[in-house]
Amino acid sequence: MALATLHEVLATAVKTNTAIPGFNIDNIEGTEAIMDAAEAEQCPVILTVGQGAIKAGQLRHLADLVKRIAQESTVPVVLHLDHGISYEQTIQCLRLGFTSVMYDGSHFPLEENIRESRSVVRSAHAVGVSVECELGAISGVEDGISHKNVNLVDVEEVRRFIGEVDCDALAIGIGNAHGMYQGTPHFDFDRLRACKNLGTPPLVLHGGSGTPDEMIRQAIQLGIRKVNVATELRMAFMAGLERTVGQRDFYEMYRTAKENVTALARHKIQLFQGKL
Ligand SMILES: [Zn+2]
Repeated sequence: MALATLHEVLATAVKTNTAIPGFNIDNIEGTEAIMDAAEAEQCPVILTVGQGAIKAGQLRHLADLVKRIAQESTVPVVLHLDHGISYEQTIQCLRLGFTSVMYDGSHFPLEENIRESRSVVRSAHAVGVSVECELGAISGVEDGISHKNVNLVDVEEVRRFIGEVDCDALAIGIGNAHGMYQGTPHFDFDRLRACKNLGTPPLVLHGGSGTPDEMIRQAIQLGIRKVNVATELRMAFMAGLERTVGQRDFYEMYRTAKENVTALARHKIQLFQGKL
């Protein structure tokens, strides 16, 4: 099947009151393992390329990989840029065939975030590509990018932003953080509800790794339509490698790592799809 856009898969999530997983990909094996889970669960999947992979020189390889995998897939696959750092980087991704780009201007003052996000939306929409924006910078460290400011989105800023930027999805900070949580996270669900009540585009929760299932369920009930998972998948992959490293057999190591990732991705999908 051809690649789908973020707009298309999130429209399905809105109708069914579910969330679509945004799974970060780093290599062929992890991507295959995620696709095994998506196929088994018959769920659309957003394969996201992050800044760590881009710094490691994987942007073109991963784009090619996802485009080939999508052709053989029986479920919709979105090729998505995670935390795009500049207008120019989003344009590079349009050229490479991405069907969705995130532009993260959340560290800028609101006016600048609006201005830059509008430019990205204008260019991406001209070629049918979806755009995710961010407000209320999400704390923690992901791919070497860290935000130190308080990660609770200002509801009034959301109102202004959605009035000026025609994005297809909006990531908001409600107490969520990248990486694994130290202790139990605290989500500000009232703030999430207030944002949703403004009539926002589908809302995105970053930092899905290690969040208790019940909190994810509640977030989806209140309007989260995409949940990002990166760190937890990487840890599952690496745990598989570590367990089999003595075997000195590449493919045996990958097999175990992939099984770990598939099992975790299936759990996340079932949770996000309201089956758990
Ligand atoms: Zn993120």
